[in-house]
Amino acid sequence: MLSETRIREALKRPKFDPPWRSEPLLGGTYDEEEVEAAVAAIRDASDISKGFGFSAPPIPDFEQAFAAYCGSKHAVAVNSAGPGLDMAMRFLKLEPGDEVIVPAVNYQAAPLAVLGAGGQIVWGEIDPRTFELDPNDVDAKITPRTRAIFPVHMNGMSAPMDDLIEVGRRHPHPKHGPIPVISDAARACGGGYKGTKIGKKGLMTVFSFHTMKNMTTLGEGGMITTDDDDVERYCRSVRMYGAEVEEWGTSNVMTKVQAAVGLVQLRKLDSFIEARRRLAYARNEMLDGLDEIVLPYEPTECVHTYYLYSCLVRKDWAGEKRDRLIEMMDREHGIGCVVANKPAYLTRRILRDHTPGQRVPLSEEIGERMICISLHPAMTDAENEYIAASLIDCVRRLR
Ligand SMILES: *Cc1c(COP(=O)(O)O)cnc(C)c1O
Repeated sequence: MLSETRIREALKRPKFDPPWRSEPLLGGTYDEEEVEAAVAAIRDASDISKGFGFSAPPIPDFEQAFAAYCGSKHAVAVNSAGPGLDMAMRFLKLEPGDEVIVPAVNYQAAPLAVLGAGGQIVWGEIDPRTFELDPNDVDAKITPRTRAIFPVHMNGMSAPMDDLIEVGRRHPHPKHGPIPVISDAARACGGGYKGTKIGKKGLMTVFSFHTMKNMTTLGEGGMITTDDDDVERYCRSVRMYGAEVEEWGTSNVMTKVQAAVGLVQLRKLDSFIEARRRLAYARNEMLDGLDEIVLPYEPTECVHTYYLYSCLVRKDWAGEKRDRLIEMMDREHGIGCVVANKPAYLTRRILRDHTPGQRVPLSEEIGERMICISLHPAMTDAENEYIAASLIDCVRRLR
């Protein structure tokens, strides 16, 4: 833990103004390299014989570079992660009553994709240390109607993919065989799992390049990775109206300007993650011993990207006291903290109405105890120290 002298020194600095948001609006950093790549792509498109499309270079180059980065056979660029998740669920051709198990502690996107494809959401519990979908709970909730296991790589760290895949194999669907694992890696671009990158395991993985994420393609964008040729063909086709597979489709393409910038961001991604990890470890040391706060847990099989620095407050600080801590950090120090996430059925009525009677009590408890404290690759060591000192100070005064 930070020494008393260091805490006092750190707290002498003025509060952050503007504040450090809990999830800063730019997840990585941008400089002239991205600007030049974008301008070059626009210049190239201003040739009337070339323009912006269709799937023009450097889109395929970006896809190949991303697939190589993840070690996957294919990568298909899309305009945002949301449509990628929709494609994943539509690929399953769900029939009424078909079930998809998705963690309740989740952003709204993945469960909404289940709903949009006509499936029945089944809420899975999480492991309270990792915040990842719990394979034992999935095992207990599989029925003959289960069509997919749909984990999210929560807050920047890999879900336990091998265990989830194994559960899916052990309970094959009567008609479709082993239950596929499809994952939402919107927050976890660049994370690692058992010597591989997130995006290698499971039937398909969906990434986001939204402005807040680990890397961004001009604020919006996404990628689907898969080793499966049919999935690749399906996604590539339905992102452009679906003619090749004679399926329903719409337009979900990425522009070549985005892809040009994506190539630059991808080259920087590991350095962004390295910076996030360094700050997270330093913060862990500075906060070690602060009894009311449970620090992030990183299993040895994972390389966490620390998209969010996700802590819990001790059980007796759940709810109102946690909320007071968040409010105090913001008001007194300009430090953003966020609850990512409460069970999605508590925040979106459409999801609650769709899943009557389904409760996941552990996830509800975690939703009252979670606190994700601002972290960003461009944060300085001094800023990180101020954040740790502020948290220690606020916690002590709330005791
Ligand atoms: C941001 C996010 C999404 C949505 O990504 P978009 O690219 O904005 O569509 C989906 N899932 C999770 C977990 C996210 O954090």
